[in-house]
Amino acid sequence: MSAPSVIERVKTSLVALKMPRALEVLDVTLRGIERGEIGAVEAIDALLTEELTTRENRRVRMAVRMARLSAIKTLAGFDFAFQPSLDKNRILALAGLQFVDRAEALHLIGPPGTGKTHLSLALGVEAVKAGRSVYFSSLADIVATLAKAERDGALRERIRYCCRFALLIVDEIGYLPVIPGGGNLFFQLVNARYEKGAMILTSNRGFAEWGDIFGDSVVATALLDRPLHHAVVIQIEGSSYRLREHADLLPETVRFKPTAAANPIPPTLKRRGRPPKNGGADHAHG
Ligand code: ADP
Ligand code: MG
Repeated sequence: MSAPSVIERVKTSLVALKMPRALEVLDVTLRGIERGEIGAVEAIDALLTEELTTRENRRVRMAVRMARLSAIKTLAGFDFAFQPSLDKNRILALAGLQFVDRAEALHLIGPPGTGKTHLSLALGVEAVKAGRSVYFSSLADIVATLAKAERDGALRERIRYCCRFALLIVDEIGYLPVIPGGGNLFFQLVNARYEKGAMILTSNRGFAEWGDIFGDSVVATALLDRPLHHAVVIQIEGSSYRLREHADLLPETVRFKPTAAANPIPPTLKRRGRPPKNGGADHAHG
């Protein structure tokens, strides 16, 4: 069989095997062999690597879309020097995703612009890359879809749907007051996911204010009881990255806003017999 017909057969096989990227780079690779730039084994390796990389990128792109990650943010793109209250190593350890496998909750608490959404998206991207299913939503959107499902008599199905994901990211707790009954709906979701799936919860308000956010301190206490058991709490105390270029224009009080207490967990919401180590800033579970 002559070389051109072998090449034709390789092309036909690549089409049949659905390897379009390998097919695309075949000619260039063959030319490399002809010129003596690469050996045959290297050529095979190059074709397969191209195809694999393309597939992996496509899988991640699709999964990012499915997860509704609103923007691609990365840990590499996060300037830790700007936010010294954040322990970089702790965030990088979280990117190892053991908290996802242990179905824990991660709380990111801090003022606006300090990178809570960025970090939650970046951890979501890490989880997607590692093949975990992820779903990202604002609290307002989650509550709205739960409320709609309840009106349609499909609340159980909706909650079951939200439980399918290994990691549920709930962003922007505290930006808007929750609609009446919303706290209860969200509680049902948190309850259903408890010890089954991981969550990242971001909030610009300390736990003591969750009663106000959910319009019901009983629901808020019940809500916090579960996410704080098996929880990692990371509090960011710093200034807004959005306003960094205008920092000199801001009054001193806004530039750096330390929170009222070092311990973000109000005493009434602590679990009995489970004193948080390290002032509640570390693993809260025993
Ligand atoms: P938050 O959710 O805490 O209000 P964001 O995560 O939305 O804040 O951050 C606001 C913007 O600033 C985003 O575009 C984010 O990517 C960027 N940003 C925030 N902190 C940092 C940082 N330390 N390094 C790089 N970009 C940052
Ligand atoms: Mg945000």
